[in-house]
Parts: sequence; C-alpha cells; structure tokens
Amino acid sequence: MLFYGAPGKDEVAEVADVILRKLTQPVVSMGREINVSASIGIACYPEDSPDPHEILKNADDAMYRAKNTGRNKYQLYDAELMARTIKRTMIEATLKKALQRDEFELYYQPQVLLPPGLVIGAEALLRWNHAELGFLTPDRFISVAEESGIILDIGRWVIESACRAAVNWNRAREEAFVVSVNVSARQIIHDDLVPVVARALAVSGCKPQWLCLEITESVLLEDKRGVKATLDALKKIGVSIAVDDFGTGYSALSYLSNFPIDVLKLDQSFVRELGEDLRKTKLVEAIIGIAKALDLKLVAEGVETMQQSEILEANECWFVQGYLYGKPMREAAFSQLISPARERYLCA
Ligand code: C2E
Ligand code: MG
Ligand code: MG
Repeated sequence: MLFYGAPGKDEVAEVADVILRKLTQPVVSMGREINVSASIGIACYPEDSPDPHEILKNADDAMYRAKNTGRNKYQLYDAELMARTIKRTMIEATLKKALQRDEFELYYQPQVLLPPGLVIGAEALLRWNHAELGFLTPDRFISVAEESGIILDIGRWVIESACRAAVNWNRAREEAFVVSVNVSARQIIHDDLVPVVARALAVSGCKPQWLCLEITESVLLEDKRGVKATLDALKKIGVSIAVDDFGTGYSALSYLSNFPIDVLKLDQSFVRELGEDLRKTKLVEAIIGIAKALDLKLVAEGVETMQQSEILEANECWFVQGYLYGKPMREAAFSQLISPARERYLCA
C-alpha cells in the first residue's frame, strides 16, 4: 500500500492498526469461520531511504521482523534495529566456523593480592576476532553459542588453551599461579565436563591446582543432583571452583555449604557502590564476613578506583581484579607482565 502525504510515522502506524483490526474480524464462508491476520512492515520516504527500491526492501525487512516477533502486528522500519538483527544472524551463521578458522582468542586479566599488589593469577576472557564484524566481546556471542550448543566445543577449546597458558606461567615458580576459566551452565549440565577437564590437564601437563573453574550462582540452583555430582568429581580431580558474580539475583545462600566451592567472586555491582553509601559498604563487609566464616577465598571484581581498593583492603578482602590493576590483555602481554625479569607487583 502506498500512503501519500502522511504527516508522520505515528499517523501511518494508526492506519496500520486500523487495517489489522479490520482484517482480524473473522470471515464466515460456507458456514465456517475463517480467521485472517497480517504482518505489516512500514518504511517512510525519505527518512528510511531516498531510493524507491530500497524503501520497498526496508518495508519488507520490517515485515519479516513483524512476522518473527509474533505476527499479527505492524513494525516500523528501524535502521539500527535491523543492523542488530542482521549482525546477530551473521554471528549465528559464522559461529560454527570460528573455531576451525582459529578466530577465538583468550585474553587474560590479572588477579592481584593486596598488599603488596602481587599478580597471583589470571582470569581467561574469551574474545572473537570476527572476519567481518571485527573484535567481539562475549556479551555479543556467548548467549548465541549457548543456545546452539556450540558453547561445548568453544568451552573445550577455552579450557585446553587456558591449561597451556597455566603450564607456561607456572614454570620456575613455587607458589601456584592460578588461571581461572568461565564455564557456562550448559557445560556443567552436559555430562562430559569432567572428562574434558581431566583430558586437558593430562595433555597439557597442567596441575589441577593451577586451574579454577568459574560458574554462576544460577547453576547451583538448577538440577541439584547432577550439578553436585559434577562439581564433586571436579573437586576430586583437584581443580578449584569459584562462584562468579556472587550476590546478584539469587539469595539461596544454603548452596554455599552444600557445594564444594573454594572461591567467591564479589560482583562488580557491589564494588562500584563502595564508599558511595554507608549501607552498601556495610553489605560488602557482611559478604566479606560470610567468605571468612566459611573459609572461602573472596575475589572482588571490577575494582576501578584507588578508593574502592582501599576500602576492600581495610576490610581484609585481599584478592582483587579490575581495570585499576590491569585490563584483560593478550597472552603475550600477560607473559610480559608477570615475567620474572620484571617487577611482578602491580602497585596501582
Ligand atoms: P565475568 O566472568 O564476570 O568477567 C568479568 C567481566 O568484567 C569481563 O568482561 C571483564 O573484562 C570485565 N571487567 C574486568 N574488570 C573490570 C573493571 O574494572 N570495570 C569494568 N567495567 N569491567 C571490568 P568480558 O570479558 O566482556 O566478559 C563478560 C562475561 O562473559 C564474563 O563475565 C563471563 O561471564 C563471560 N565469559 C567470558 N569468557 C568466557 C568463556 O570463555 N566462556 C564462557 N562460558 N563465558 C565467558
Ligand atoms: Mg568470570
Ligand atoms: Mg563476574
């Protein structure tokens, strides 16, 4: 349909509404009721394109979006939204090949002991050097990988790569240098995580005490028996288990005594508010107390300012991670950072 002289998009949308309402009235034919619905895409000249062919194409794209998001509705063309949809489709389509093409890379962020600011470990954080879309952080693709199940293959690659790095960094070192790896719920629930970890350790020569697996709280609240059995088996191998983003969303603290957990990672959201408001600072003090009482190592995440660092230290939270001490960096840069030839203290 062509609609001439519409004052604005709102008026066009009103017309679309009327069309939808008229169309959804059932038609009776030969005693039977027939229901009709429509999906409408709308593009406007000249905002959405000065070119008539492109206007049609944009309206068509918008219509497909209307179909994909529930049908029987209208959708205004939105260039930004379309670009995002196209990128997501592209991510889905290329994710499978990314491993074969060697497009993934692990970055490492230092974990620091206060005082004196000694780097005692690293968290491995996944990055994707995408051929067309460029450098991608996990928020862009982990959920897609989880939905499609490819996270199992990617996760295996991450664990194997992190084990090799851990072997490297533990050479000529007495104290264990721990590399932490994020594992998704899907990996924990799938029954091959234990053999995957065992194999990665054996093949690389990585000692179990050099590897820590980070899981999110929500995993511990899912299918309890399966998860517990997996975590117990991992514990038996000797790797440590950390609860990531601790304190966000879930309040069933009982899991802390039921599961074999070694480390709590205090979520960034708490650290960000440190010093801003007394009650929030008190809450962090209480969490530090829980970790102490249960003999768990507490790592504060997302430390960005000296003030946050000082408050944490004053409350005896000795392990920290955040931009203040170092951003995630490439493996080679991290090797430089902790090389014995250099000062290994990161005094912020
Ligand atoms: P996470 O495990 O909680 O990792 C911490 C995130 O905070 C990282 O984001 C890190 O770059 C960022 N960060 C660190 N310090 C600071 C700071 O001082 N300020 C701020 N604003 N941010 C900081 P990143 O690398 O984008 O990773 C996001 C999430 O993606 C991770 O959260 C983790 O849940 C997930 N992820 C990363 N790598 C993997 C992986 O290999 N496998 C799986 N399944 N998930 C991964
Ligand atoms: Mg993590
Ligand atoms: Mg976290």
